[in-house]
Amino acid sequence: MLYLIPTPIGNLEDITLRAIRILREVDLILAEDTRTSRKLLDHHGIDTPLRAHHAHNEHTAINGVLRDLEIGRKLALVSDAGTPGISDPGFLLVRECLKAGIEVQCLPGPTAIVPALVQSGLPCDRFHFEGFLPHKKGRQTRLKYLASLPNTFALYESPHRLVKCMEQLQEFCGSDRAVCVQRELSKLHEEAHRGSIAEVLAFFKGRADKVRGEIVIVVAGLGKENSREEEED
Ligand code: SAM
Repeated sequence: MLYLIPTPIGNLEDITLRAIRILREVDLILAEDTRTSRKLLDHHGIDTPLRAHHAHNEHTAINGVLRDLEIGRKLALVSDAGTPGISDPGFLLVRECLKAGIEVQCLPGPTAIVPALVQSGLPCDRFHFEGFLPHKKGRQTRLKYLASLPNTFALYESPHRLVKCMEQLQEFCGSDRAVCVQRELSKLHEEAHRGSIAEVLAFFKGRADKVRGEIVIVVAGLGKENSREEEED
């Protein structure tokens, strides 16, 4: 059995009782960064061994992981924060486990996309999750596609690219489209900026060199310019 265990995206209390129990019970924890995960495990008094499993060794490590699972060892995969496989390593291992007939279970738990979407105030019953945009090649194509979507969409973005990304969203979606930029979810300095793309861009443009932390951008779908509510037909 392979477990995928969501871990806190900021507040260390955001981990389920079941996640803690399974992290304690498994034979080995595969971790994106063993030092980051060790801190979390120490906080909860868990001494399960850790092994590095990240984007750079994922392809070569997979056969060893499958062998461990095939001889009956119980393994858990964690990323640095949030749910493995969501803009983090995980997908490849899940696919190969399923191909090999190994059972996979992802626990429900923390991820940045869900709280960002729900507290954005933008319609959240249907949405598109984009994750990170490509930095260069293909970026414009993705932006054009996103701008055409009828439903709310969400992006992960780094603080130093936020202003550039907002400028591009303005170019492709127009100035009036409603947006919510959220920083540092569940952390001490959590904040949300809601308004039109032009308003929120103006706020961050004046502070471009001071923007820090982790960011989710949630944008209204096409035709939902100033709306924070689902429109009636
Ligand atoms: N696996 C994670 C998840 O389930 O959300 C995502 C990992 S991805 C490498 C990291 C990105 O997620 C950050 O750059 C940011 O866009 C978003 N993120 C993670 N934690 C966040 C937080 N506390 N506040 C805002 N965004 C966050």
